[in-house]
Amino acid sequence: MSLYKKILIAVDFSAATSRVVEQGIGMANKLGAKLHFIHVVEYLPPVDFANDPIAIPDWYAAEDEIIKRAEKSLQQIIKENKLQDTQSLVISGAPKHEIIQYAKDNDIDLIVIGSHGRHGFQRLLGSTANPVVHNAECDVLAVRIHE
Ligand code: AMP
Repeated sequence: MSLYKKILIAVDFSAATSRVVEQGIGMANKLGAKLHFIHVVEYLPPVDFANDPIAIPDWYAAEDEIIKRAEKSLQQIIKENKLQDTQSLVISGAPKHEIIQYAKDNDIDLIVIGSHGRHGFQRLLGSTANPVVHNAECDVLAVRIHE
């Protein structure tokens, strides 16, 4: 029986990504686990809609473009690592919520995440890593990322 059957790698495309991906893939290969990738687009509207509702179509277009680019980048990672039978998702929202929810909905048994990423090194764990470690229902591997 495999220790972990479904592993979710959380990718933020920061400098931490290659190490997080490497550890997640290494773990999946060792255990024969299926790999899932997630990237959450954290996109805030550039304008205050209450004051400028006309900007809404532009906002959606820009978000759409970011999602498409992120999908391409995730596919690139999958291709470069010659991975097969993987699943990947790019979704808009709050990273900590979407990562935890995806893991729950897809019976993920291990989340692989960087200890830090794009939100800096001020804390012991980053502002995404910290709530994921605390609130995910499955195990979480926080790959140590040094400043
Ligand atoms: P942070 O805590 O935000 O500095 O990032 C720590 C780790 O959380 C990163 O190394 C990624 O593994 C993951 N992460 C952060 N933001 C995202 C995101 N937008 N989508 C997917 N994973 C993320």
